[in-house]
Amino acid sequence: MIKEKTAAELKELDKKHFFHPTSAIKQQRESGPAFIFTEGKGIYLYDENGTKVIDGMSSLWNVNVGHGRKELGEVAMEQMSKLAFSSSFTSFSNEPAIRLAAKIAEIAPGDLNAVFFTSGGSESNDTAYKLARHYWVLKGQPQRRKIISRTRSYHGVNVGATSATGLKPFRDFTSSLAPDFYYVDHMSPDALRELIKQEGPDTIAAFISEPVQGAGGLHIAPETYFQEIRSICDEYGILFITDEVITGFGRTGTLFGIEHYGVVPDMMCFAKGVSSGYAPLGGVVFSQALYDELGELSTGTLLHGYTYSGHPMACAVALKNIEIIEREQLVENSKVRGAEMLSGFEQIKAAHSIVSEARGLGLMGGLEFHPQPGAEGPLAPLVLAEAAKRGLICRAVVLEGQDILVFSPPLIITKEELQELLSILNAAVNEVE
Ligand code: PLP
Repeated sequence: MIKEKTAAELKELDKKHFFHPTSAIKQQRESGPAFIFTEGKGIYLYDENGTKVIDGMSSLWNVNVGHGRKELGEVAMEQMSKLAFSSSFTSFSNEPAIRLAAKIAEIAPGDLNAVFFTSGGSESNDTAYKLARHYWVLKGQPQRRKIISRTRSYHGVNVGATSATGLKPFRDFTSSLAPDFYYVDHMSPDALRELIKQEGPDTIAAFISEPVQGAGGLHIAPETYFQEIRSICDEYGILFITDEVITGFGRTGTLFGIEHYGVVPDMMCFAKGVSSGYAPLGGVVFSQALYDELGELSTGTLLHGYTYSGHPMACAVALKNIEIIEREQLVENSKVRGAEMLSGFEQIKAAHSIVSEARGLGLMGGLEFHPQPGAEGPLAPLVLAEAAKRGLICRAVVLEGQDILVFSPPLIITKEELQELLSILNAAVNEVE
C-alpha cells in the first residue's frame, strides 16, 4: 500500500506527465488512472489502496505464469549483474540468446528452426513482412510485395503491423500507412483464393494470420480453415506467416495455437507469453527451408536488426519462464481450466438473454452480447465496469459494431480461482441484464 498523500500525488503526476498508450487522452487527463498497481501475486493484482482484483486478461494476454514469480526476478538480476547487454549484430552473440533460440527451435512446430529476436509483437510482425519481401527480392521477384491479412485481425501498432491489422479503426487512426496490404474475410479460405486470382499470385509476398483472433473479438476459425489456407499458399507459392503473439506459449491449451490445426507456417511470430511480460521480448521463427534459402541467396549484410534483438537479460528470463511453463504443466492446465471456463461461460449464456454467444479455446475466451434495440451503447463496457467493482478486470471489444468481453487469465489459475472469476462475471451480467 502507498500512503494516502503519496497516492494522491502520484495520481496528479500521472494526469500531468504520463501519456498513456491506448487510452482516451482527454478522459485520462481529467480523471487520472483507475488503478495504480503496486503488487501482483498469482492471478491477482493489488492497487495503491490495497484493493485486490483478478487479472482476467493476464494484463495484456501476456503474464502467462502469473504475477510475483521471484525466480524470474532472480534470473534477471543474475544476468544483469553478469552481462546486462551486448550486441547481437554481425558476429557477436551471447549465451542466453543462443540457448533461447535453440529452446524455441526445439518446441516450435515442424521445421521452424531459426529464431530472429525482437522486443515485442509489433516488431516481430514488421520483421516478418520485411523479410518476406526481402526473400522475394533475393529470389528475383521483387514485384511480390503484397501482404494479405484477415478482417478482424490485430497485428500491432508500428506502421507495418498497423497496415496489416484488419480492424479498420486502427488503420483510420492515422493518415499514411505502408502500401500493398490487403484484407480478406476472416473465416473464408475462398476469399483468399479469390483475392490471389484478382491481384495475381506473382504480386503477393505473404499471408499472415493469428491462429485465434484475440484483440479483434476472439474469433476461432473453423477446423479445416488453416489446412485450406496452407494448401492455397503452397499452390501459389505464397509465404504463410502465423502471428502467435497471444496464442503462443500455452494460451490456447497447446503450446502454439496453430497446433490445433495440424499445419506448419513458414514463419511464426511470437512475443508476450515467451517471457510472461517479465521482460520485453519477441521474435520470428523461420522454417529451416526458408532460413537455408535466405542463407544461400543472400550476398551482403541483412539490413534489419533491433538494438535489443537477442537481449541477454530478456532471453535469460524467457528461458526460465519456459522452464516454469514446462515444469508446472501449464499447457495442460490451460486446456483443462479452459474447458471449464468455456462451460462456465455457456452456463452464463443459458441464464441470461443478453448473452448471444460463448467462445473459447484453452484459457482464451469471449462472451458476446446481443444488439440491444434502443440501448444507448454496447453492453460489454457496462458488464466490465460491474465486474471491476466486484474485483475482476477483463477487456471489452466494441470495435466494428461488436459487443464482446474477452478473457485470458494466467495459465496457473486453479479450479477455485476460476470459479471465483465466473461467479463475479455472473453477478456482473446479472446486474446489467
Ligand atoms: N499481434 C497480436 C496478435 C497481438 O495481440 C498484439 C498485441 O496485443 C501484437 C501483435 C502487438 O504486440 P506488441 O504490443 O508487443 O507490439
